[in-house]
Parts: sequence; structure tokens; C-alpha cells
Amino acid sequence: MGTTIFAEMSALALTTGSINLGQGFPDTDGPAEIAAAAAAAILEGRGNQYPPGPGIPELRHAVAAHQKRFYGVDVDPDREVLVTAGATEAIAAALIALLEPGDEAIAFEPYYDSYAACVAMAGATRVPVTLRPPGFRPDLDALRAAITPRTRLLLLNTPHNPTGAVFTRAELAGIAELACEHDLLVVSDEVYEHLVFEGEHIPIATLPGMRERTVTISSAAKTFSFTGWKIGWVTGTPELVTAVRTVKQFLTYVTGGPFQYAVAQALALPDSYFTSVSASLRSQRDLLCAGLADVGFEVFRPAGTYFVTTDVRSLGEPDGMEFCRELPARVGVVAIPSLVFYDNVEAGRSQVRFAFCKKEEVLREALARLARRGLA
Ligand code: PMP
Ligand code: GLN
Repeated sequence: MGTTIFAEMSALALTTGSINLGQGFPDTDGPAEIAAAAAAAILEGRGNQYPPGPGIPELRHAVAAHQKRFYGVDVDPDREVLVTAGATEAIAAALIALLEPGDEAIAFEPYYDSYAACVAMAGATRVPVTLRPPGFRPDLDALRAAITPRTRLLLLNTPHNPTGAVFTRAELAGIAELACEHDLLVVSDEVYEHLVFEGEHIPIATLPGMRERTVTISSAAKTFSFTGWKIGWVTGTPELVTAVRTVKQFLTYVTGGPFQYAVAQALALPDSYFTSVSASLRSQRDLLCAGLADVGFEVFRPAGTYFVTTDVRSLGEPDGMEFCRELPARVGVVAIPSLVFYDNVEAGRSQVRFAFCKKEEVLREALARLARRGLA
């Protein structure tokens, strides 16, 4: 594998002049005042030299205040927060820190592509538990059956990429119970925590018995629409955060000094900012889901994230990979074949993921192209 599916499909979008509903990044930048804060930090000489290893105190305090404001969780900004190069590095550092060769890590598939790579880098084995349409709900019996004496951790992601499922409190409680019963660690990727349209985001660390066994990960990328800044963070007990930091310091050491100041400011934005981000994405979701259904896709409506999963068998197409490879030339639209997110490829063979974090006119044009070429 020379390149990720996201890079491959974004390159294809450029060479074919297609609308890119593949890789998940917004086509509108985040708040201008936050961009100005990053520019000001650079010009004023804040963060231009190596920032402190755990992250600048302003950002660590802002992360702690955010966890308190939204989830009522007390986090010690000095010992329980670590700033990372995006959630991507947080995932890598956490998995390399917590997994030993021979360990097993369970993750619900389809899963974000870096999970498999990072479990492999840790020398461990990934064990998938399949989420199935239409709801992509976690199957607790299947999870229980996947646990062996070698299972070390659960790698969780809610709101879930690529399906858009938001795990409920009851589902998370069932997962938490199994984690406690089998003394498992949990690495919880919550980068879409504020992009929820139905239900609510519940950090699993807030459930009984979970605080001491959970590494919680988030990022500024999605919440603030600055995916290029690569500022993420980890929260957890001092022991877990120290373990992750020990790896992180040899991956990037530190990252993005001036951006850290800007993200500290962003995390303190009023509640209205956070509700408006999800409100506008909700209407983009509604537009794309309705349009895709009109064109003939089977649509699995997501409750969160940037993404909608569809099934293309309703268009007479058995194979999502072939469909996505041909779509740019046929129609001028790029999407992601979800089978790349599965170990059990057959489970995702006909699923295709579209991103709706795009301007309304872009989504409308993509839908017009899909309709014009008569896919069905
Ligand atoms: N986890 C998931 C589920 C994602 O979708 C992404 C998106 N890129 C990441 C992690 C990585 O986040 P970041 O850009 O902050 O590294
Ligand atoms: N998270 C983004 C997605 O799922 C992609 C990030 C990347 O390209 N690695 O589309």
C-alpha cells in the first residue's frame, strides 16, 4: 500500500476535476478570529520555538476546562493532558505505548485506516467486531466473543467514522462493563464529539470504572474546521498520559506551537459556536442524504460525523471499490469505498462513503452530476 485511500482519492479528484466527497475535510475554514489568533501568535513570537513537551499550559488548561464544561469531568491540566500532532499521533502513541507484541486490540469495523497501521506498528494483532447496517450498532455478544486472554485493549470511536453511528449510553455501558470485567484498557477516539445531530456524545471515561482505564483522544481538526493544523490531545490518568507521552516525545517531540495558542482560544468559544457547527452540518447531512436517496442509493442516515454510508447494490453495483474507481470519470464525483475500512471485506463490499462537510452549492452540484448521469 503506497498511499492511503484518502490521498489516492483526493489526487483522483484533482486530476479528473471531480467534486471531492471522499477525504473528510471541510471546504470552509473555521472561525476567522481563531485563524487571526494563530497568525498573531506567529507574529508576536509565541510558540515559534519548541513548546513544552506536554503542550503549552494555556492549551492544557483549555482542554481541561472543555472536559469540565461539556462532560462535568475534572481533569488535571498539568498531569492528565497531553497535546499531540493531531488525533493521528495520539492514536499512534497510545497504541504503541499500551500494546505489547502478541497482544490483541479489538476495534469495531469498519474502522479508520490508521488503527490497523498503528496496531501493526505496536506489533499487536487487531481483532475486528463488525458493525452492520442499517444502524451499525455495536453487538455486545460479538464483542464478548472476541475477547481472549490476550486482549489488552478496546479501540473505540464514537461518533464513528465512517458509519456516522453515535453510540448510546446503554451501548457504552455494556462495553464499559466488559472492559471492567476483563480488565481491558480503552483508547477512545472522540474527534467527532461535537458533530452530533441526534442523540448525545458520551465519553466512555465518564462511565463507572472507566476513568482509570481509558485514554480519551480528541482534536481541533473537526470541531474547529482546521484539519491542516494538526493539534490533538489526550486526557487520562497521570500514569496513562505519561505512557503516551513517553512514545510521543520520540514521534514528534512537540508540534504546532502557535496553533496551540489559537486552539486554546477556540476551546473557550461560547456554547453557541459548538451548536452552530453541528446545526450547519446537520443541514448538509440532510441535503446529501435526501439527494443520494433520490438518485437511488440506499442511504444509512448518520447521527454524527462528516460522513454518510450508502449501499450501491440498489444501483445494480455489487462492488464499491469498482464503483468508486469509475465514478470520477463517469460522473465527476469522488467517494470512498468503505471496504477499505474492513478486515471482513465482504461485510463492506458494496458500501460507499460520502463526505457532506462541503458547501451547500458543492453538495447540490455533486447531486446534480449524479442525477444527470443516471446511475440507476
Ligand atoms: N480519528 C478519526 C476517526 C478520524 O476520522 C480522523 C480524521 N482525520 C482522525 C482520527 C485524525 O484526526 P487529526 O486530523 O486530528 O489527526
Ligand atoms: N479523517 C479523514 C477521513 O476519514 C481523512 C484524514 C486522512 O486523510 N488521513 O476522510
